Amino acid sequence: MASTKTAAAESPLDDPRSRRARVSDLEVVRHHFDWAWDHLALPDDIRQVFWEPYREVSVQIPVKLSDGKTHVYQGYRIQHNGARGPYKGGIRFHQEVDIDEVRALASMMTWKTAVAGVPFGGAKGGVNVRVEDLQKSDLQKIARSFMDKVEKVLGPTRDIPAPDVNTNAQVMAWMMDEYGKLHGHTPAIVTGKPIALEGSYGREAATGRGCVFMYREAAAKIGLSPSETTFSVQGYGNVGSWAARIMQDLGAKMVAASDAWGAIRNDDGIDANELHRHITVEGGKLSEFPGAEAISAGDLFEVPCDVFFPAALGGMIHEDNADLMKVKMVVEGANNPTSFKADEIFESKGIVVIPDLMANAGGVTCSYFEWVQNLQHFRWEEREVNDKLGKVMRKAYRDCAERAEAEKLSLRKGAFLVAIERVIEASRTRGYIE
Ligand code: GLU
Repeated sequence: MASTKTAAAESPLDDPRSRRARVSDLEVVRHHFDWAWDHLALPDDIRQVFWEPYREVSVQIPVKLSDGKTHVYQGYRIQHNGARGPYKGGIRFHQEVDIDEVRALASMMTWKTAVAGVPFGGAKGGVNVRVEDLQKSDLQKIARSFMDKVEKVLGPTRDIPAPDVNTNAQVMAWMMDEYGKLHGHTPAIVTGKPIALEGSYGREAATGRGCVFMYREAAAKIGLSPSETTFSVQGYGNVGSWAARIMQDLGAKMVAASDAWGAIRNDDGIDANELHRHITVEGGKLSEFPGAEAISAGDLFEVPCDVFFPAALGGMIHEDNADLMKVKMVVEGANNPTSFKADEIFESKGIVVIPDLMANAGGVTCSYFEWVQNLQHFRWEEREVNDKLGKVMRKAYRDCAERAEAEKLSLRKGAFLVAIERVIEASRTRGYIE
């Protein structure tokens, strides 16, 4: 259990390993998009149509909170591309949300739904609020107010939000209820709802479960069995903790984990279920979990393991930490976690990267299942949901891997090529472009 770093930096902010990338999420997505566009030799005059969002809504959200003061937040709903179906994507509550981040995330949804082959376009929403400061009643006010401000561009056949960072089934319930006040009960207006309000079985676990389906496909190719796999999770939230618990069920061993406040390590294994219980049931801090050694956020990158799951924010892996990672595989539970310099480092070292638009597509795929169930007012059993999810994820893996192998490219490049071709084909068939 020895820490590999002897002289830990004073503060995470002083530690170059734990800062976020210097390039923005938007620059990272632009880099991959441009590469794929050029590689496909697509016409330059329509590049902008597929790069820039179709519609951007930016709203002011003034709310009087329980401290008696009015706080003014900025909210966004950005609809990137709707050629393949209604706009789809989560809503993020985070103090660092800005329009460029939402633009990047919206375009990633377009490519992700295309890779998964679910009939949606791409969108994203966000509010620049620090949730740690909020009472539950304050959170509800912000969620309802955001829905009031953007509902005109939403609808079950137009744009369907879902949870993302710091939003969950409860937030979706408030948003559905608010929409229902104006339009009548409309469960298909948001996905990721509670089970009690027409949510889908399996949706909460779906993003993490999807990551594990992808890991299994890639692991089989490099001869790595789950029972001999060690892994680390950066960001022990919904995606990270579900991925960890499902990996553990398969026999894999978690050796390190982190959240926004700290990190832990135990080479003999950290029980993923116990850690989840410690945080969610007992209200404990991840860094105080008994049976593991507290380490710094930067040290997490130096813990040797087979698989690293970045499941926190964008830009966490970059030129100051990618080189230190002793891993065989990176499975991107988060959106845009890896800068393109870090990507190059991984490629040169032969580290397999399952990119975000494949790895975390399980969430939106299960959202599609939820939407279908809502439109039919019918509920599937959890096993049916998980089986269908596995089929979609394995097909997405195969489609992207075949494309990558045929041209000796990374999975990320293969996935971008597959995604852009599918969106272009839908646009052509609709008659939007020639
Ligand atoms: N926020 C998730 C994502 O980034 C899920 C989106 C959805 O289900 O619409 O993929």
